[in-house]
Amino acid sequence: MTQVAGPARPARPQPQRTCVGCQQVRSKRELIRIVRTPDGQIRVDRSGRQPGRGAYVCPRLECLESAIRTHRLERALGQPISGAVVEELRGGLQSV
Ligand SMILES: [Zn+2]
Repeated sequence: MTQVAGPARPARPQPQRTCVGCQQVRSKRELIRIVRTPDGQIRVDRSGRQPGRGAYVCPRLECLESAIRTHRLERALGQPISGAVVEELRGGLQSV
């Protein structure tokens, strides 16, 4: 029995998330996850699987800056973000 091999299609649609910076909805895989870990640390989550409360931004500094300036990142993570953490997030984003 012969089957025509078509392009593989994902069985389920890709999960989508909203960037807290520009607020565009994008595929989760295109976004950077920022996580607040259960012990209250905020960091860039490269694996996308760290436990904790997450927020998503595009891999662009512009979106990170906007998310911070508008306090949307703080709100999404549920706690204030210090300047030192902002610096770390900037660094984390640039090395992606
Ligand atoms: Zn964005």
